[in-house]
Amino acid sequence: MRMITFLLVGLIVHVVFFLSIFDIYFTSPLVHGMTPHATPQAPPSSRLVLVVADGLRADSFFTLLPNGSSRAPYLRSVIEEKGTWGVSHTRVPTESRPGHVALIAGFYEDVSAVAKGWKENPVEFDSVFNETRHTWCWGSPDILPMFAKGASGDHVYTHTYPAEEEDFASTDASRLDTWVFTQVKSFFQSAKSNASLRANLLQDENVFFLHLLGIDTNGHAHRPMSQEYLDNIGLVDTGVAELVSMVEDFFGHDGRTAYVFTSDHGMTNWGSHGAGHPSETLTPLVAWGAGVHNARRATGPQPYSDGFLQDWKLEHLQRVDVNQADIAPLMASLIGVPFPLNSVGILPLLYLNNSEHFKAESMYTNAIQVLEQYKIKMTQKKETTMPFLFTPFDVVLGFVGWTSYVVLVILKTHANLNRNPSVLQQVGEYTVIPPDLHV
Ligand SMILES: [Zn+2]
Repeated sequence: MRMITFLLVGLIVHVVFFLSIFDIYFTSPLVHGMTPHATPQAPPSSRLVLVVADGLRADSFFTLLPNGSSRAPYLRSVIEEKGTWGVSHTRVPTESRPGHVALIAGFYEDVSAVAKGWKENPVEFDSVFNETRHTWCWGSPDILPMFAKGASGDHVYTHTYPAEEEDFASTDASRLDTWVFTQVKSFFQSAKSNASLRANLLQDENVFFLHLLGIDTNGHAHRPMSQEYLDNIGLVDTGVAELVSMVEDFFGHDGRTAYVFTSDHGMTNWGSHGAGHPSETLTPLVAWGAGVHNARRATGPQPYSDGFLQDWKLEHLQRVDVNQADIAPLMASLIGVPFPLNSVGILPLLYLNNSEHFKAESMYTNAIQVLEQYKIKMTQKKETTMPFLFTPFDVVLGFVGWTSYVVLVILKTHANLNRNPSVLQQVGEYTVIPPDLHV
């Protein structure tokens, strides 16, 4: 009889825990209705250029050629002189959509999106782009629309090549990147003679986003060790160098532009991504320009034991790693827009070149912004749960309680810890006690 009770309780506990997995992980963690929070101090930049080299893994980017030169000489010079750099750690699934959502919206992909194919917006979310005055984007039709679709008002502009024409790059995927750089060039060219566009560009709180799909496509087709993949890194580097000089010329070298270069995910040696191997989860991050700290010489040993600093010949420069979602609050802080409402990113302070006062205010704002989500979630849970069932616990006892019960039953049935003969008589119906243990 007691054994039946035991089995029944066990079944109930496991069914409840099993169902709770769906409640915890397979429903959207996103909430709505938070108040936007921006750092009250004046931001260091008026505009930000974000370049995402899709599928670029960290070691392919940072590792030097056998002759000691870099395949990305421009960005290497930024790392050496005027920028802050590190590894951006992505999470699984290492796919383009979740990677971009983490970078631009500051949260890790909603697992409930699995059922919806990762493509369309499964839920509405806020993003750095949505918080800007204007964002202009160039790149793949698989990525850009999700940030325009969710944006309130008409201020996120996308320029994509038609999906069916992605074939134009079938012989050489780096053409996808050339297409983007060419479009951006002609955009700034046209702004010189288009008064209203020019006026919009000269406003603050603007973002320019370049999504470069060439490296990813070349990696899938030829693998990351191929000449195609590696040459594409060089092409992107040259493109970024030209882009920076064009943007600086357009804005009269006003020192108000910040730049962020990174990737959405890496790639395995076999040319795939999606899982959690370091080749997939480690991506490069380089930031420079207005509000970003200059290259710092490393003083003493750095807190990284993975050997990359030596492999990449970067021991002399301070490395600052981030979690991918931290890039969203970094970008928001640089141009002074509210942190994206659903962001769980933590502002990486070492990237900032600003006063201690600014940093303190920004951290405080960041904390309040994350707390807002918790408060809303708590209120929602309270409203949708029956009053007597909603109890905020100080201590979590669920599985520990069950385990203690199991241990107790095992001890009672399989060990003789009881020295009282009268009780032994009572439990005797299912306990065999060796005669020599009787007292
Ligand atoms: Zn991707």
